[in-house]
Amino acid sequence: MARSVPFTGEHLARFLAGQKRWNDAREWRARQTEAGRPSTWLDFCRSHGICAACAAAGVALNGNGVGFKTLGWSANLPLYEECTACGGTGKVVTPS
Ligand SMILES: [Zn+2]
Repeated sequence: MARSVPFTGEHLARFLAGQKRWNDAREWRARQTEAGRPSTWLDFCRSHGICAACAAAGVALNGNGVGFKTLGWSANLPLYEECTACGGTGKVVTPS
């Protein structure tokens, strides 16, 4: 069962870092394409240790890929579903 987390603190910080990463990813993918190397978003995530399921935000994306999945409210703060693929860390968890 996924935890629900408020979109503050570390999650917000990771989300904002992720915004910048979209630009990095676009440039990285353009370079890879030019070089004839694998250049998908998943390739980018793999080579950078990023959780592809949540784009490193640590919070689950909506099924349609737009915005994040909300689970409820805590006082006046919406609670979001923690990404189960990476346990909310935003990093790829290597299966052991
Ligand atoms: Zn994740």
